[in-house]
Amino acid sequence: MKTTAIVLAAGQGKRMKSSVQKQFLLIRDYPVLYYALKTFEESFVDEVILVTGENEREYCKKEIVEFYGFKKVTAIVSGGKERYHSVYAGLTEAAKRTPDYVFIHDGARPFLDQEMLMRAYDAVRECRACVVGMPVKDTIKLADEKGFAAQTPRRDLVWTVQTPQAFSFQLVYRAYGELIQKEETLSEQGVRITDDAMVVETFTDVPVKLVPGSYENIKITTPEDLKIAEAFLKESSKNKDSGR
Ligand code: C5P
Repeated sequence: MKTTAIVLAAGQGKRMKSSVQKQFLLIRDYPVLYYALKTFEESFVDEVILVTGENEREYCKKEIVEFYGFKKVTAIVSGGKERYHSVYAGLTEAAKRTPDYVFIHDGARPFLDQEMLMRAYDAVRECRACVVGMPVKDTIKLADEKGFAAQTPRRDLVWTVQTPQAFSFQLVYRAYGELIQKEETLSEQGVRITDDAMVVETFTDVPVKLVPGSYENIKITTPEDLKIAEAFLKESSKNKDSGR
């Protein structure tokens, strides 16, 4: 069984309010993007396709892939305007390799680990489509357009979703192909594509399994996330030092 990972690092990171894109900022001396690439490098995944901005490809190749010796990164391709354009660019590159499974992961999520990858791998082999996420801790409200609480979904059934999101390659590639064909109509209808599972939910009848990720598997989005990430890393190195 052949598995390819697509790691996304083509976002502009406007909410970070920094001149350096968030995936290249340092946490404990390593770029944010380093952590996820390292986890994939040490995993069962056969190869990694890195998707980045047109102007960052050379930087990623020299300063990240070559510098840290990531041998599994076999292609660095340019992303697009929206996240789903970047995913499609990655899938198109992956198609040349005809993998059985594909893992799509945000490069801005450094706290992916081997156990989480394995949970997703087990689920995708069984169900063909899965996403990692966690049950919410807070009560969630759906608001109406005027900003009033319209509905309160049962908390035990509400999850926040993270990445990796793992799929049978042909299933997700076909679903994305259809999305790209219909993107204009969908955007006129106000549909915003914010994750990969949504594409599979919309264009196929394969149910997407929810698999536990971790509460630490945060996406580095705003400056305070960097402080939280530093704290998580400090904690995990303390645990390692004490043999936990
Ligand atoms: O923008 P958001 O925080 O949802 O981005 C999630 C991930 O998708 C990040 O790793 C970001 O670099 C990537 N992305 C991308 N291409 C875009 C937008 C986001 O690769 N056009």
